[in-house]
Amino acid sequence: MIYSWAGASHVGRSRTNNEDAFAPHADGTGSGPLVVAVADGMGGHIAGEVASRVAIEAAMAEAGSATERVLAGNSRVVEAVVADPSLAGMGTTLTLASFGADGAVDLAHIGDSRAYLWRDGKLTQLTKDHTLVAELVAEGRLDPAEVRAHPQRNLITRVIGMGKAIDVDHVGLETLDGDRYLLCSDGLTSMLDDDEIAAKMTGEPVEAVWALVEAANNAGGEDNITVIVVDVAA
Ligand code: MN
Repeated sequence: MIYSWAGASHVGRSRTNNEDAFAPHADGTGSGPLVVAVADGMGGHIAGEVASRVAIEAAMAEAGSATERVLAGNSRVVEAVVADPSLAGMGTTLTLASFGADGAVDLAHIGDSRAYLWRDGKLTQLTKDHTLVAELVAEGRLDPAEVRAHPQRNLITRVIGMGKAIDVDHVGLETLDGDRYLLCSDGLTSMLDDDEIAAKMTGEPVEAVWALVEAANNAGGEDNITVIVVDVAA
């Protein structure tokens, strides 16, 4: 497989600092393996930025499966709080995809940073948001149309850094020629619905990345926006 990827992170229009982190920072093309990841940190003062950066660095440095990488990110964030109690309460999402030279995709995540597959002109969300509103929708207790206005829409139910024992969600699939994968923080998906995201799935990865960032900012830019696009060619 030939993978072509691009990523970007933007502070948005209302925050003063960017607590998102992503990897790799350099856009490129290669035959794989390729690992990409998005993290969205939270915590007081600088703690959110520390959490997302530490999780990404640990996950990228780890060898092994996507789940093992996410667990490594969690361990390092927990250890960082033990080493520096002023960071207590920090946490982060982490969504990571590992693309094999053979076309196998290994995806793992905690939190509400999403991964999508764009295949045959159709956008499919591959991850499940670990949020209160997503759980209420899954249980049939909340109308999907009411999610955006829900007062607790930002409440995350599973996050990196909250303890050593954590459940990581995992998805495995096979890439096809022409697939496009999208990883993003909620600064994108809280501003744009899936149809609006699908409308920006044109052009090279770098063009799609910046079109999405711009669209999220035009829609309000209320949060940090991080986007990674990976194209697959056989
Ligand atoms: Mn966010």
